Amino acid sequence: MENCECPHCCEQTIRPTQKIMAGKWVTILCPDCQGRMCTNPIILALLYFMLTWNIFFFGYMAIRESSIGYAVMMVVGWAIIEFFIYYIPLSRMRALKPKSTENQNREPQDPNNG
Ligand SMILES: [Zn+2]
Repeated sequence: MENCECPHCCEQTIRPTQKIMAGKWVTILCPDCQGRMCTNPIILALLYFMLTWNIFFFGYMAIRESSIGYAVMMVVGWAIIEFFIYYIPLSRMRALKPKSTENQNREPQDPNNG
């Protein structure tokens, strides 16, 4: 698998393992430009809803009907949804504000006066 494009610097810097972690609701950093990004949360939430539904429905049917067919459908559906999660585009996130900056805004101090 080849690297994915960073939405900040448009370079192919995102490793496939980072892209998989982004699909597990983890915020990732670009190793090149240090930009924060995540998988588009609206699409990800929809796919996780489908994934939960898939596991509950086919898991329940597999136990109720004692059928291996439903268990296979659950695993195949899970694999298909994980495949789609990998290809959700990454979204940019704003950089985190350092806490020291927040304190400086509350109590204005001139650094030149010591
Ligand atoms: Zn980048």
